[in-house]
Amino acid sequence: MIKLIQTPSAASERPRTSKVHLITYGCQMNEYDSQRVAGLLQQQDYELCERPEDADLILLNTCAIREKAEDKVFSQLGALKRLKKARPDLVIGVMGCMAQLQQGRIQERAPHVDLVFGSPAISRVGELVARVRRGERAVLDTGEGALVKIVAKPESANRLKAFVTVMEGCEKRCTFCVVPVTRGRERSHAPGVIVDEIRGLAAAGCKEVTLLGQTVNAYGRDLEPATDLAALLELVDAIDGIERIRFTTSNPYNLTSRLIRAIRDVPKVVEYLHLPLQSGSDRVLERMHRGYTQARYLELIDEIKATVPEIALSTDIIVGFPGETDEDFAATVDVVERVGYDNAFVFRYSRRPGTPAAEMPDQVPDEVKARRNAELLAVTGRVAAVRSGRLAGRVLPVLVDGVSRKDLREVSGRTRCNRVVNFDAGGRRLLGSVVPVRIAEVLPHSLRGALAEVDADARPFAGASV
Ligand code: SAM
Repeated sequence: MIKLIQTPSAASERPRTSKVHLITYGCQMNEYDSQRVAGLLQQQDYELCERPEDADLILLNTCAIREKAEDKVFSQLGALKRLKKARPDLVIGVMGCMAQLQQGRIQERAPHVDLVFGSPAISRVGELVARVRRGERAVLDTGEGALVKIVAKPESANRLKAFVTVMEGCEKRCTFCVVPVTRGRERSHAPGVIVDEIRGLAAAGCKEVTLLGQTVNAYGRDLEPATDLAALLELVDAIDGIERIRFTTSNPYNLTSRLIRAIRDVPKVVEYLHLPLQSGSDRVLERMHRGYTQARYLELIDEIKATVPEIALSTDIIVGFPGETDEDFAATVDVVERVGYDNAFVFRYSRRPGTPAAEMPDQVPDEVKARRNAELLAVTGRVAAVRSGRLAGRVLPVLVDGVSRKDLREVSGRTRCNRVVNFDAGGRRLLGSVVPVRIAEVLPHSLRGALAEVDADARPFAGASV
């Protein structure tokens, strides 16, 4: 669960402003959407608050990708029922993917919810809340909407890094996935709009952007004139102040040699690629409707490694997809070993309403999914540890973005390959600077290092205290 950072409270002499408490579940796109909603509501004189008890408006930004994500939302809504009973004027809203997919169930199971709206309606959030406040019940807005780029965003503690959605929706028809239903068809934002947004972020101190799309490497093909992600990366690279560019999620089906070369050639693009495998078995990949085979996936990996030898790779894998046999699963394990991922996200297949896989007859029992999940996590952990080991003793550029979680005297940052590094800054104010750090120790979830040498003009982030 991601809560938005609280803004400084309004001056005490001001009339009482309304307070909004936002709870975000799910992916980076949801985090981005929550920030837009918070920004838009602040323009309407709402202020963010930490505790639901203090709020006049509570919004849950939801995820529908797996059943577990939905269960969390229903249990949260159950907990909020008590608050609503005590304060009937409290407005409770559900937004995001679950709002699109489960509108009926939300109304049935949580009749105390006043407002349900999908991501296409985010730009209208102020108006929707106002309608509820005028007494309309329940306000529903879950249709498709025009493509709107909202750049409103609350004052946030971390101005150094930002997500930027470059396209909405998904056109893929993966048989397990609800995203095409919840986020609609694929639509790219124009390059100029994206560049303007990132210029604004850079002017406010942002150093690293992550470009977001469900199939981000399909960016631009729907635009007139058509463009692609490689061209967008070059435009973003030219923005002063931005030091690093990441992008996610790429689909193997749309991965081009041109994009692989851009990872090598565009200086600010980091050597990191998240490339979901989902399964290593051709039979399962076909039933998933992924559009590639194991051999094609491995061919792409070979090309990436040959072009960008420093590349760090991460992936998503589903275990227990309908019909997955022990043999299919063994093929997945084999690919994991061969690729050598730096990081892997393993999911147990979850039956999603309205998706073709949910209707497939040969569903895999939960205990088999659990066993394969545990087995695969052991393999991915071992493989990732070997990959981490290669970093020991090397000097890596680290973008300092905060204080170490375990030791407040130390600072924390990330390598270009997205590993957390903690080190002693020797009292220097380094927040927002990229500094060379020698990696002394490789731990399971982070690295420890020592400052190698600091450039005389390492630029501290304005107002930094680290
Ligand atoms: N659009 C991206 C793609 O297709 O590669 C990623 C979308 S999704 C937000 C992130 C991950 O959730 C997927 O890559 C997949 O591994 C997992 N996922 C999606 N649907 C799932 C389901 N029904 N059960 C389990 N995992 C699922």
